[in-house]
Amino acid sequence: MRPTIEYVKTRFDEFNRTIFGGRLPKVTIRLSRARSFLGQLAYKKVRGRGGQVCFDGFTLKISVLIDRDQEIIDDTILHEMIHLEILYGQKHDTSAHGIIFRERMAQINREYGRHISISHKATATEQASDTRSRVHVIGRVTLHDGTRGILVPAHTRINTFRAMMARHPQVASIEWITTTDPSYNRYPRTLTPKLYKTP
Ligand SMILES: [Zn+2]
Repeated sequence: MRPTIEYVKTRFDEFNRTIFGGRLPKVTIRLSRARSFLGQLAYKKVRGRGGQVCFDGFTLKISVLIDRDQEIIDDTILHEMIHLEILYGQKHDTSAHGIIFRERMAQINREYGRHISISHKATATEQASDTRSRVHVIGRVTLHDGTRGILVPAHTRINTFRAMMARHPQVASIEWITTTDPSYNRYPRTLTPKLYKTP
């Protein structure tokens, strides 16, 4: 299914009531066509009366680009609601998905039979279902230790990558190809060289 704003709102209110004790504030809900994430909680940092940093102005974004199972959409909404609970409670976790997040996630999974995970990212299979035809410039690399992989430079960085790889001490060989093969759509283009390993 591809959720509507109405669907996300209904689920949000329901989970707020049943899982979060009705303590979460109303948030703005937006649908997104993002390829890289399933859900995202945007917020603002504002100064409180005492000068301390507070989190406010929450927007919950759910990606509708890919058709997903309802379970996955609901778990994505719950994932973002855990972020909201932490931030609205003005708590500072040890990292984006730190100790507080992980404990709360495990508890909800256990008590409500959910399968919320840490990752916001679309799975490889989902990204592979992206069949749009785009032009990619790919560097096929073999390192001196035998590792093979590909480089996927941002279009503005192609010449920089070529120059860097031509004199990189670890690179045994590199072949640059231009292709519209959609199987490359899943690799985020990078501004600095990142080797995506291939078999
Ligand atoms: Zn998250």
